[in-house]
Amino acid sequence: MSDLQMKSRHGAGQRFSDERIAAFQQGIRGRLATPGSEDYDQARTIWNAMIDRRPALVVRCAGAADVLRSVRFARDNDLLVGVRGGGHNIAGNAVCDGGLQIDLSLMKSVRVDPVARTARVEPGVTLGEFDREAQAFGLATPLGINSTTGVAGLTLGGGFGWLSRGLGLSIDNLLSADVVTADGELLRASEQENPDLFWGIRGGGGNFGVVTSFEFKLHPVGPELLAGLIVHPLDDAREVMRFHREFMATVPDELTCWFVMRQAPPLPFLPPEWHGKEILALAVCYNGDIAEGERIARPLREFGRPIADVIGPTPYAGWQTVLDPLLAPGARNYWKSHDFADTSDGLIEVMMDHARRIPDPQTEIACAQLGGAVSRVPRGATAYNHRDGQYVMNVHGRWSDPAKDEACIAWARSLWQAAAPFATGSVYVNFLTQEEGGRVREAYGENYDRLVALKNKYDPANLFGVNQNISPTV
Ligand SMILES: Cc1cc2nc3c(=O)[nH]c(=O)nc-3n(C[C@H](O)[C@H](O)[C@H](O)COP(=O)(O)OP(=O)(O)OC[C@H]3O[C@@H](n4cnc5c(N)ncnc54)[C@H](O)[C@@H]3O)c2cc1C
Repeated sequence: MSDLQMKSRHGAGQRFSDERIAAFQQGIRGRLATPGSEDYDQARTIWNAMIDRRPALVVRCAGAADVLRSVRFARDNDLLVGVRGGGHNIAGNAVCDGGLQIDLSLMKSVRVDPVARTARVEPGVTLGEFDREAQAFGLATPLGINSTTGVAGLTLGGGFGWLSRGLGLSIDNLLSADVVTADGELLRASEQENPDLFWGIRGGGGNFGVVTSFEFKLHPVGPELLAGLIVHPLDDAREVMRFHREFMATVPDELTCWFVMRQAPPLPFLPPEWHGKEILALAVCYNGDIAEGERIARPLREFGRPIADVIGPTPYAGWQTVLDPLLAPGARNYWKSHDFADTSDGLIEVMMDHARRIPDPQTEIACAQLGGAVSRVPRGATAYNHRDGQYVMNVHGRWSDPAKDEACIAWARSLWQAAAPFATGSVYVNFLTQEEGGRVREAYGENYDRLVALKNKYDPANLFGVNQNISPTV
């Protein structure tokens, strides 16, 4: 290692001699990576291939002690800090350019207590890893729909998936967390201890500290549930979505149905003549008795003339990975997002119009369904506040060839603009891109001022600033 140049939070560079870095390294149980070291590229490469940032120094943390040491080192030297959990964030906020990277991705422990139905989870754990441990005991908690996403970032922004209408957001199932705050202390946050901090980390992202351990409530789930896809021609989407709107208003929270408009991928259950043609896919999941789910979902399956219906009893752990092949890391991605209170006719027209002009076979318009238990939590109970939104649209621009950047980004922006009149005005913080820092206030709505007060208390110097930032005002 030769002398290191590291960026401070205010942009200036500082030189660190080998001796200073060696002294810092002494107290680290994990390992350091710098440009040129074997695992440097692995530590800085994240899901979205459009992000290419080069931290000066990466601390590949082995435990909370490494995080404490890193935070104190960054604070004492006024360094730019990035914090990496699963590395899935679309904005690339896991990685900082030129600063100190606190990499939690090697902290992988999950400890399930099957009697108390709780789990202790370290911040490098992915959804698939958590599900595997919890499902060994027939248990689960609501997480997202792509198994390589990090539990940490997902939870700190809110976290929703197939179980959320019945069991709430990931944060609604968070019992406590250990947090290393900007002053270099480790605090426990729960309803009983530091409840203000606990309120803030349930939706406020990494603004208040580095979480080194999450404690979740678990629920009996599966091992099999009723799940699968119903695929319709896009031309029928108008009628199908009208029926979907009326039907979903009548069903219990255990039934969830997301929808996607895209070109049909070459999947074996789709007739070859449909490959590459525009489709509407309904992704259905019923978390409960399978026969009861069959009965409740039947009208949705009998409506219209689907190209394919592959709904059936499915292992929960398998369903949690079913979309992985379409969401593999390494592609170029650009997202835009809105929340909707319903799927009005006008909105469906806008989506269908853009779906017909999709610029790449990997690109899609995906809408998650919320409501149910998510909406029954009072808006001010956690930092995540858009509890009324029933649908979260992710305009998922995705492609491989950099030459398509402009066309794909323009298409995503155009759809986002056209859909704006139908949106609630709020947005899910975990879907915001790099350029959308100005929407952070929208993401928190009436909770924003309380979050600023909390930031002033826990991180007045904005040490944790590489995120969808809640700027301190002191
Ligand atoms: C393919 C894909 C599918 C997705 N599906 C869903 C879904 O179904 N439901 C859903 O709710 N979201 C979903 N998301 C969004 C996801 O919740 C966010 O991308 C989330 O930020 C990912 O967390 P991470 O730990 O992987 O990310 P990272 O990029 O590592 O981190 C995200 C942010 O959190 C901060 N952070 C991470 N760990 C910590 C920590 N321990 N302490 C403090 N700060 C930390 C980082 O600094 C960064 O600002 C999806 C994302 C992708 C790419």
